[in-house]
Amino acid sequence: MSAPRAAGGSRVGIVVVSHSRALAEAAVGLAAEVVSGRPARTAVAAGLDESTFGTDAVRIAAAVEEVDDGDGVVVLMDVGSAVLSAELALELLPDDVRERVVLSPAPLVEGLLVASVVAAGGADRAEVAAEARAALLAKDTHLGTAPDGEPAPAADGRLTGSFVVANPHGLHARPAARLVGEVRRLDADVTVRNLTTGAGPVPAGSLSRVATLGALRGHEVEVAAAGPEAREAVDRVLALAARAFDEAPDPDGERPDPAPSAGPLPASPGIAIGPAVRLRAVPVPVDERPAGPPEHEERRLADALAAVRRDVRRTRDRTGPGQAGVFDAHLLLLDDAELTGAARAGTDAGTSAAGAWARAVTALEAQWAALPDPYLRARAADVRAVGDQVLRVLAGQAPVHDVDVDGVLVAEDLTPALAGALDPGRVLGVVLSGSSPTAHAVILVRALGIPAVVAAGPGLLDVPDGTPLVVDGTEGRVLVDPPAAVAEEYRTRRRELADRRARDAAEAPREAVTRDGRRVAVSANVGSVTDARAAAAAGADGVGLLRTEVLFLDRDRPPTAEEQEREYAAVLDALAGRPVTVRTLDVGGDKPLRYWPQAAEANPFLGVRGLRLSLTRPDLLRTQLAAVCRAARHGPVRLMVPMVTVVEEVLAVRRLLTEAAAPGPVPDGLRVGVMVEVPAVALNIEAFLPHVDFLSIGTNDLTQYTLAAERGSPALAALADPLDPAVLRLVGETASRAAGRVPVSVCGEAAADPAAVPVLVGLGVRELSVAPSAVPTVKAAVRRLDSGACAELARRCLAAAGAAEVRALVRAAVADGPGVRSRPAPDA
Ligand code: PEP
Ligand code: MG
Repeated sequence: MSAPRAAGGSRVGIVVVSHSRALAEAAVGLAAEVVSGRPARTAVAAGLDESTFGTDAVRIAAAVEEVDDGDGVVVLMDVGSAVLSAELALELLPDDVRERVVLSPAPLVEGLLVASVVAAGGADRAEVAAEARAALLAKDTHLGTAPDGEPAPAADGRLTGSFVVANPHGLHARPAARLVGEVRRLDADVTVRNLTTGAGPVPAGSLSRVATLGALRGHEVEVAAAGPEAREAVDRVLALAARAFDEAPDPDGERPDPAPSAGPLPASPGIAIGPAVRLRAVPVPVDERPAGPPEHEERRLADALAAVRRDVRRTRDRTGPGQAGVFDAHLLLLDDAELTGAARAGTDAGTSAAGAWARAVTALEAQWAALPDPYLRARAADVRAVGDQVLRVLAGQAPVHDVDVDGVLVAEDLTPALAGALDPGRVLGVVLSGSSPTAHAVILVRALGIPAVVAAGPGLLDVPDGTPLVVDGTEGRVLVDPPAAVAEEYRTRRRELADRRARDAAEAPREAVTRDGRRVAVSANVGSVTDARAAAAAGADGVGLLRTEVLFLDRDRPPTAEEQEREYAAVLDALAGRPVTVRTLDVGGDKPLRYWPQAAEANPFLGVRGLRLSLTRPDLLRTQLAAVCRAARHGPVRLMVPMVTVVEEVLAVRRLLTEAAAPGPVPDGLRVGVMVEVPAVALNIEAFLPHVDFLSIGTNDLTQYTLAAERGSPALAALADPLDPAVLRLVGETASRAAGRVPVSVCGEAAADPAAVPVLVGLGVRELSVAPSAVPTVKAAVRRLDSGACAELARRCLAAAGAAEVRALVRAAVADGPGVRSRPAPDA
């Protein structure tokens, strides 16, 4: 018989997990003393027996089921392995029960007392968990010992906490956008204040206002919140701050211009020859006269904002997830209550939509431009760029930018939106006086295939329009008005390069076979259906790596099995019968997901990422595996797991795959493979071979782990060379031991490196997976090889002293004979 419900309606159960049964029972007894009326349902899972210390997951799971009455259970734990056992217990529970369980980080005794009181009062499980978590507050307030960063009630009753900004460029647009995005989802009124400078408080839900705090690295910022989810808001902001607002350590493009000595730098390969066209800011017309009453102007503004929002999203999709942060910041500005509110006040007062918007944008831009820090000040350009986009739409112009350039574009820098709008048919080349090869805009220029040189120095900005320029984006050279003979030489090279590319593209649909008859499959690395179509058009033999994380990032909840199946099926359709290798989610501390908060890690690349992370949430992994099983109905699918380290992980995936396929069997022919990214796998490959159907070597990670050189660090770029003999030895060991047993591919960036291709083929690799645009070139490179000559070259490379010697050996081999003539012509 179930007990009557408490006044508030909920009957939340409580489980006490402790190493000591005596301690747990005494704590429960104490709690019973303070609860008036009917106590909450409480169970103890403590000690291995009456007197032996320990915790047991099975017992915890049973205790949860004992007190679960459908309204959920809050589990309180003492220390260390109690937490691990409780986590394990979750895995043992049926899905529906598990979803109702909250593992509370509250201190055991204080948390239990508070939880017992509120649970007995009928609070729901979120309230019980929140109250338990705040159990130390009373003691802290009394003793005046609230630790730094812990929420504490402010004088006005708001909860507060503080953090020190760790981001190298302070709380600039991207980290600020993460902060704004986080608090907007919560039912709380949140403000932030720069305690170091005294700026603020400002609403944390407004990007424009947060940026005006001028919070630089090292500044202390206070967050204050009121409302039903105030505590969660403060906690989340502090957690986000501890993760440096999820800003990657090397935020490409968010760095100051390189020092003058850095350039000119090659930024996008190829040769461009044409007249200089200096990009000047074209003033956007602002018609101050309203075309109708205030409601009409307000509607026009709303429509223009919506059009620009669509446009920004399109550019963001085009540039890929790596650059999404910049565009997310632009989207938040378009949605910013302060900015749009100021514009609406203008239309209400009878100003035209354009006039009101222009004034609001100018005011905000001026605020940002007045910030003391030069880096934050430079972000005013974002406000202007977004503001101008809206004004152009209001003026009836194209929604993005009109880049009226036929020739070589010369500019100080480009915004990502502007770069995304360049027409490769008209913009022959790009020369930037500043910027860097890894800036967002430059990455986009590269994706468009426009030759580019950056950090060329301010002198180029003085070159008059129409001056003939030669841009060598491969070597990083800009020639201003070169002698006719030199220009002619470059014209010849450009023609040869174009001819070669056209020939390679025409041949790309054919298989790539070496001169001595060895087939090397050249497949593509893709992240979306659009990429998959590009891969098919480029002649890819399949997809060697589908990075499914793209589908999981930038959203508030994980994709369902149906959504995933649709995406994978669409990729299979695009490849029309060619195999598609679906990689399970590869995220972690360095690529966090909003709906899957993770503890900050000192070394995210050595932390809980890839399969390690997936195995902490078997429910999510099972959903993905179920989607892959279903997608197998649409075409040939392979399943690949990233960041594997030990054989047990492969066995765990196979078990989960069987569960995911249930009630049916795992689809026939669904091959399961692992990525070789951790040196331990390559060194212990014999142990893996009986359990895998294929191997794919991820040279990006394998290189960083072998050479202990973080893959994103520009300072270590030269060291982190996949042609280092140590990395090659791991590749060779993997390929030779797997030969005749399971196929081995390489899907890291090295697979498209012209110098690496003959060495990889020589080491026995028979599949290369590369960016779609590189497929024709790599196929052409393979056709020029002789596998015997490559094997001989590989042998010599393995004995080399370092990567530089390996590269020299490859160069010499290319010069020596046709068998390893893998390098495209010198102008490629
Ligand atoms: C790799 O590590 O080489 C790889 C292909 O995986 P990712 O670059 O996605 O980490
Ligand atoms: Mg990897």
